[in-house]
Amino acid sequence: MAWGRQHRRRIGVMGGTFDPVHHGHLVAASEVRDVFKLDEVIFVPAGAQPYKQDRDVTHAEHRYLMTVVATASNPRFTVSRVDIDRPGMTYTIDTLRDLRAQLPDADLFFITGADVLPQILTWKDADELWSLAHFIGVTRPGHELDPEGLPATGVSLMEVPAMAISSTDCRSRVKQGKPVWYLVPDGVVQYIAKYGLYTAGGTATGVGQHTAARDLAATRADVPPRVVGAAQ
Ligand code: ATP
Ligand code: MG
Repeated sequence: MAWGRQHRRRIGVMGGTFDPVHHGHLVAASEVRDVFKLDEVIFVPAGAQPYKQDRDVTHAEHRYLMTVVATASNPRFTVSRVDIDRPGMTYTIDTLRDLRAQLPDADLFFITGADVLPQILTWKDADELWSLAHFIGVTRPGHELDPEGLPATGVSLMEVPAMAISSTDCRSRVKQGKPVWYLVPDGVVQYIAKYGLYTAGGTATGVGQHTAARDLAATRADVPPRVVGAAQ
């Protein structure tokens, strides 16, 4: 007799640009996973984002691969391509619909920092978001964690270890030749150097793109299937 699964899986969803992924993201995901007893946290690098049109975002494959590198050592962390493989703008409603379709037996917990939480009400199809996932707002240095206007039952707030790290600061540090060791995982430091990301002449949206894209085409075949199809 098959015993079957006794509980619905609890899956965290950490959406972000991850340009680059840093220890603030990883600590937040780890802490939420522990407190909410999640089976897994899926990192979902965004495709094009409506509110990041004013700057060149690094090629999605680089952001995806950095996220894979950063999460590879944690068996509870995986990475999904749903947003970067979907054409057009990334809207969280589509992320959650796609993940719900891929994981019909799971409850989804969407993790978001205090800077993003107040924007949720302005997102596309905001009314439907609450039926697709429970939202978890986490503390972030420099931002107030304010649930104002958000539905009382659909959102939880929690404190995570304060990591005053942002991708914007990491990009700026690399551009200035300053170190990002210990702000991002070691493998991400090395990945950034390998492809010359965030430097004036070698960003993945600029001159260095072609070599990196060729390398990436070769590298993709080496990415383990479990990682590529993370949200199975
Ligand atoms: P950028 O400066 O480019 O906006 P970022 O550091 O804000 O980058 P994102 O990829 O925009 O990183 O963030 C993805 C998610 O992670 C968001 O919900 C954001 O609030 C959260 N987050 C980012 N950094 C931290 C941090 N240091 N502590 C807690 N949450 C964070
Ligand atoms: Mg941000």
